[in-house]
Amino acid sequence: MTQDRPLSESKPLNFLEEIIEADLASNKHQGRVMTRFPPEPNGYLHIGHAKSICINFGLAQKYGGKTNLRFDDTNPVKEDVEYVDSIREDVRWLGFSWESEYYASDYFQRLYDYAEYLIQRGVAYVCDLTETEIREYRGNFYNPGRPSPYRDRHPEENLELFRRMRGGDFADGSKVLRAKIDVQNPNMNMRDPLMYRIRRAHHHRTGDTWCIYPMYDYAHGICDAFENITHSICTLEFEDHRPLYEWFLEQDVEEKFFKRPLPRQIEFARLNLTHTVMSKRRLLELVQEGIVSGWDDPRMPTISGLRRRGYTPEAIKSFVERVGVAKAEMVAEMGYLESCIREHMETHAPRRMAVLRPLKLTITNMSHEQSFSAELPHHAEMPELGMRTIKFTPELWVEQDDFREDPPKKWFRLAPGAEVRLRGAAIIRCNEVVKDVEGKVIELKCTRDESANRGNPADGRKIKGTIHWVSANEAIDAEVRLYEQLFLAKDPMDTPQGEDWRQGINASSLEVINAKVEPTLTDCRPGQHFQFERMGYFAVDSDSAPKSLVFNRIVSLKDGWAKIEAGQALGRE
Ligand code: ATP
Ligand code: MG
Repeated sequence: MTQDRPLSESKPLNFLEEIIEADLASNKHQGRVMTRFPPEPNGYLHIGHAKSICINFGLAQKYGGKTNLRFDDTNPVKEDVEYVDSIREDVRWLGFSWESEYYASDYFQRLYDYAEYLIQRGVAYVCDLTETEIREYRGNFYNPGRPSPYRDRHPEENLELFRRMRGGDFADGSKVLRAKIDVQNPNMNMRDPLMYRIRRAHHHRTGDTWCIYPMYDYAHGICDAFENITHSICTLEFEDHRPLYEWFLEQDVEEKFFKRPLPRQIEFARLNLTHTVMSKRRLLELVQEGIVSGWDDPRMPTISGLRRRGYTPEAIKSFVERVGVAKAEMVAEMGYLESCIREHMETHAPRRMAVLRPLKLTITNMSHEQSFSAELPHHAEMPELGMRTIKFTPELWVEQDDFREDPPKKWFRLAPGAEVRLRGAAIIRCNEVVKDVEGKVIELKCTRDESANRGNPADGRKIKGTIHWVSANEAIDAEVRLYEQLFLAKDPMDTPQGEDWRQGINASSLEVINAKVEPTLTDCRPGQHFQFERMGYFAVDSDSAPKSLVFNRIVSLKDGWAKIEAGQALGRE
C-alpha cells in the first residue's frame, strides 16, 4: 500500500488511517470508504464536534470516499429543527459537503421490522419489569445479573406484545423490548440491553406516528449498516458498547437486512478544551439561564460562537489537525486554539488603526490647512494588497495606554519630553500634559518634527517607538467587545465540593467599550477580519450596521510590553 501513496505525504499515519489502509489493502470493502457524522439534533455543535467532522469527512476525502450526515433523532423529547438547521450550516461552513442526509427516524420502520425479526429468532423479548426493577435485576460490576421473569416468554407472545406496544395498548414505561444476550456478562452493556421503550412524545419529523422509540445502541449500528458505512468512527465512551454494536448486526444470520461486510466501529479520544464546558447539556444551561446571549455568543465553544467571534474554518481545522487523533483522553489548551487563529489572521487580516481607549493629542505647530493624506499599506508584508489613505490632522486620538507620565525604563512610547513616531505620518514630541480638576490626563500637546518626511528625522536620530493614531475629525465611533475566558479555572467542572459549576463563571468575560476607528472601516461588513494595529485581531460582529459598527476582539496580539513588565515584576530585566 505504501508505494501507492503520494510522495508528498510523509506524515506518519494515525491509527484510523492505518485501519483504513489495511482494509483497502485487503480489499475488505472493495475499495470503498464510507463514513458518517451522526449528531443528535439536541443542541448546537461545538469544537469537539468539529474534530469528529474533520475526522469523518477528512478520512473519506483522503481515501476517495464519501460521508453521510445522519441526524440521530431517536430521542423525540430533546430534539428540534432549529438544531438541525444550525448543524447543517456549521458543517457546510467548515467546508464539507455530505453525500446524503439521513435521519435515524427515516429508518423507524426498518428498525421495527428488524426488531420483529429478532423476536422471531428468539433473541429479543418484551419485559414488564419497571425501570428500577430492571436496574436491580441487572446487577452491577461486582455482581452478575439475574434473568428477568419475562425472559423466556415465547416468541409468539413477544411478537404479539411488541405489536401491541407499537399499537398503543400499553402505558409509557410499562413494557420494554430487550435483547436476550447474557445477564451475567462482565460487560454491563450486554446484560439484556433495552431496544425499545414506550414514549408518547411528539417527534419533530414523524409526529405522532410512533409511540415506541428505539434506543441509541440498537439503532446506531443498524443505521450504519443500512447506509453501507464502512468505518463507524465515534468517541471512546462507546468502546464498551462495541460488542453490542456487533451483536445486533450479527443477528442478521440470513443476511436479509444488511449487506456484508458489516461496518466496523472504531473509537478515538474526544477533544476537551480548557476554560470551557463542552457538553451540549451544559451549554444549553448557559443559554437558557441567560448567562450568555445565545448559542452563538462569541464566548461559547460552539462552532457558531467561534464563527461569530471571528474564528475561520482554516483556523479550526488546523487546530484539530494539530491536536491529532489518538486513543488517549487529552485536554487541549485554549491558548493553542488561539494561536491557530492568530496564525491564520497574521497572513489574512488587513491592518487598520483603531484607538480603543482614546486620549486626545493635539499638534500645536500644525494648522488644519496643513492636514495631509497618509498612505499606509493594507498589510506591510503583502505589498500586493496595496495602500489605504488616511487623513492626518492636528487633532488626534491615541491610546491612553501609550502615555505614561512617569515612564519606566525601556518605555519607548509617549511620556513628557519623549518622541515617538505616529504610524506612517509624523514624528512628534510631547511637550505638555493637560489634566482635569481631578488630575486625570485629558490631553497631550505635542509638536511635529517638520524636517521628518513622514518617517525619519532629517538628522538621522533614531525614534524607537511607533504608536497608532486616528484623526479626531475623521475617525468613526465603533463599539468594541473584548472577551476573556468564560471560566477562569482550567477545568470548570473541577469545583470545590458542593459548589455548582456555574459559580466558576468569569463575571468579567465581556467588556464593551467605545472606540475610535479609522474611516476606511465605514463600509465593513459582518464576518470581515482586521488586525487593529498593536491591539489584536478583530471581526465585524453580526450586530454591526453601517452607522453603528460593532467589532469582536477575536484574540489579542502577543503583547511585548506586558511581557517585559511581568518580567520586571519578577525582578528580571
Ligand atoms: P455532548 O456529549 O457534547 O453533548 P454528544 O456526544 O452527545 O455531545 P452527538 O451529537 O451525539 O453529541 O455527537 C455527534 C458526534 O460527535 C459523535 O460521533 C460524537 O462521538 C462526536 N463528538 C461529540 N463530542 C465530541 C468531542 N468532544 N470530541 C470529539 N468528538 C465528539
Ligand atoms: Mg450523544
